[in-house]
Amino acid sequence: MSQVICITGGIGSGKSTVCRYLEERGYPVYYSDIRAKALMEGDYQLREQLITVFGTTIYTDREVLNRTELARRIFNDSNLKHSLESIVHPRVHEDFVQWSKDQTSRLLFKESPLALEIDDQSCQTIVVVHAEAELRISRVLGRNSNWTREDVEARMRNQISDEQRLRLAHQVLDNSGTPDELQEKLDQLLTKWS
Ligand code: ATP
Repeated sequence: MSQVICITGGIGSGKSTVCRYLEERGYPVYYSDIRAKALMEGDYQLREQLITVFGTTIYTDREVLNRTELARRIFNDSNLKHSLESIVHPRVHEDFVQWSKDQTSRLLFKESPLALEIDDQSCQTIVVVHAEAELRISRVLGRNSNWTREDVEARMRNQISDEQRLRLAHQVLDNSGTPDELQEKLDQLLTKWS
């Protein structure tokens, strides 16, 4: 029986950095956001359900997802956001279950930015990658050169607070230091989980 460890955290906390390292170490990682986007484009039934709720403008030629338009539509509309989640999350969960059946590793990792918000029941352990807001803002601005500080802050306001995240975490992985320090901490956790 595999153990599912979910990697979550606020914007720019280092989730993808952690997951890339886990993959380098040979662990399988399921990327929820990437799979969600692939399913929203590739799964005909899901696409049609979304078009029923949002209209055709969220796709170009009915198949390429217009993420900017979708994000714009749900940004200040919690009902629409809820509709989107109730359509997409069950399909992604089904896809994750299928994926996990194909894995042989005893430890499975899932990058799940919304693990705490959606109370993701597939996670046995929830790891919150954490760094202070200012550090995350500067890292995101370094990564996304076309974003402004306001863009990052707006996304932060749309996520649960750091306090909530830290309170709900099963494990906090501090990412305030260097990438090498992050890897060291992750190695210690891997030893604990193995
Ligand atoms: P998002 O929420 O936007 O998906 P994320 O949580 O996946 O972000 P990453 O993309 O892994 O975060 O990290 C954000 C940026 O910070 C990246 O450019 C990454 O290379 C950099 N970064 C991550 N950890 C560190 C670190 N310890 N030291 C310096 N830079 C870091």
